[in-house]
Amino acid sequence: MRTHYTNQLKDLENGTYVTICGWIQEIRNIGNIAFIIVRDREGIAQVTLLKNDHGDEEFQKIVSLSRESTICVKGKINKNTKSKLGVEIYPEKIDILSIAEAPLPMGVVDKVSVDIETRLNERFMDLRRPEVLSLFKVESSLGKSIRRTLEEDGFLEVHTPKIIATATEGGTNLFKVKYFEKDAYLVQSPQLYKQIMMAAGFDRVYEIAPAFRAEEHNTTRHLNEFISIDIEMSFATHEDAMSLLEKVITNAIEFVIKNNKDDMNRLNLNWKIPERPFPRVTYSELLDYVNKNGVEMKFGEDFSSEALELIGKKYKEFYFITRWPMETRAFYVMPCEDDPTFGKAFDLQYGEREITSGAQRNHNYNSLKENIEKKGLDPKSFEFYLEAFKYGMPPHAGWAIGLERLTMILTGVKNIREVTLFPRDRKRVVP
Ligand code: ATP
Repeated sequence: MRTHYTNQLKDLENGTYVTICGWIQEIRNIGNIAFIIVRDREGIAQVTLLKNDHGDEEFQKIVSLSRESTICVKGKINKNTKSKLGVEIYPEKIDILSIAEAPLPMGVVDKVSVDIETRLNERFMDLRRPEVLSLFKVESSLGKSIRRTLEEDGFLEVHTPKIIATATEGGTNLFKVKYFEKDAYLVQSPQLYKQIMMAAGFDRVYEIAPAFRAEEHNTTRHLNEFISIDIEMSFATHEDAMSLLEKVITNAIEFVIKNNKDDMNRLNLNWKIPERPFPRVTYSELLDYVNKNGVEMKFGEDFSSEALELIGKKYKEFYFITRWPMETRAFYVMPCEDDPTFGKAFDLQYGEREITSGAQRNHNYNSLKENIEKKGLDPKSFEFYLEAFKYGMPPHAGWAIGLERLTMILTGVKNIREVTLFPRDRKRVVP
């Protein structure tokens, strides 16, 4: 149907024939001439309709079309125009594809602010708004670049099951589903399976897939279904995993800067490519820091939002928190050789916010089994996983980035729902 997107018109020769398709954003009728603003995914174009050329009846039919109706316009490019866009189309044929009902559930380009609940209820309409679309274009580019970096680094894409019998890290936050005569759960993370892939000799794997967590609280940075970008790599330490993560993040930012100029302008983003390596601070150093600065915290506790706020004032951009106490981390983390109270785990943070968790994993069958027991879990439910550690398991490490969390943090939106097409939260399962 279409020959060009609206943003391609300005580069064409005068007189070129084009067909554009999109939504009627606005019609200004000034008597014998009407200006129709047509919007598609890439921008807007002006269609200049002259009554003399089309006859009274046709002219009236078109100018009375409702806003947000869809049309295709075939016509000729004119660059000698006073239009702000620098180019207009003189239409020869306008196909009316679908007429929008009025009133609209919400405006697309109106300046009036609409609350987030209405926006999410009428999400298809909200997603037509250019600034909302820009957020998803940035998210798409981040995902695309991350995938590219991983592919270039020799990672194989895998797809692990999302319906499982065992909780990854114990029983909390799980969604139970009926699985014929049995109970099963929606997966919280592909952790156990991506580790099994290391035993399978796949060496380096990645997966970009939904993860499900029955989050107790309705926060602005948690979803009940999010996209987890997971990697696992063999013959590798936590240091290797951190270096890869730095590269993945830096490349992704560079990719957006290069490919999303319009979106960055529209969203007022002023990114610079971060320097590598990112700073590394240990858990203990930060524990000391927060205690000295008025936020009380005991060894073995996770950082509270208050503590993270304080830390975020000192470390404003990317940094790693390393050397976590084993008691704060999952059973599969590899303990440090010099002091097994600590584990080879890390979080990538941006200011006060967590983007990624990762670690070198424990690949020793006996001590892994012990750690499962220490956490109060039953090794029997992990048999299928533990089995993979008995017959030759390479040392390995990995991490998981939440795609929406990353996009939220980099674009500075206050609510993770802004960068989720159809968010699932405590109250929302529709649309
Ligand atoms: P948080 O402390 O932020 O709740 P977590 O420690 O539970 O996160 P991990 O299990 O380490 O998170 O998950 C890895 C990454 O997945 C996190 O760094 C984050 O980017 C993302 N993530 C985790 N839970 C959610 C969620 N409920 N909604 C959106 N993203 C999430």
